[in-house]
Amino acid sequence: MSPDTERLESLMREVLLALGEDPTREGLLKTPERVAKALAFLTSGYSADLKTLINDAIFTQTTNSMVIVKNIELYSLCEHHMLPFFGRCHIGYIPTGKVFGVSKLARLVDMYAQRLQLQERLTEQISQAVMETINARGVGVMIEARHLCMMMRGVEKQNSEMVTSSVLGTFRESQATREEFLALIGHRP
Ligand SMILES: [Zn+2]
Repeated sequence: MSPDTERLESLMREVLLALGEDPTREGLLKTPERVAKALAFLTSGYSADLKTLINDAIFTQTTNSMVIVKNIELYSLCEHHMLPFFGRCHIGYIPTGKVFGVSKLARLVDMYAQRLQLQERLTEQISQAVMETINARGVGVMIEARHLCMMMRGVEKQNSEMVTSSVLGTFRESQATREEFLALIGHRP
């Protein structure tokens, strides 16, 4: 299920015309092609498969203490304006015998971020995927991101960050677990 880049290219030529631009001028000549390729990459998460992505990077480990991976870089497109939002994602989980290879969590974040997204939904999809993939006892995900659709249009203060979180299992049930998560990612509860 890869996007129709030829169609995207011709549509981008139309967009340039509708903006009053001249798609035949030198600087814009290859722009439709570049935008089509960029859009295809930025939405490549639609065709990614969770099982293939995780593949062999789940390891057996008999720990039941909290695992934290923080400051995972995140770039996505908001589905309302198709403009970027970007920031950091923090993930914590309590395993029941299986843990992730660290780089795989970053790949998992990319897989859901490379779609047209809402920050709230992205946060939930990541926590659900972690929970289900390794059958975790609990998961906490927090995303802090800045939205260009707000910043560039002057809708909100330029430095405002949107913070979303999703907690499942023991992270939902136990306040102490939630507080440990927040403390470990550097947020005082
Ligand atoms: Zn937006």
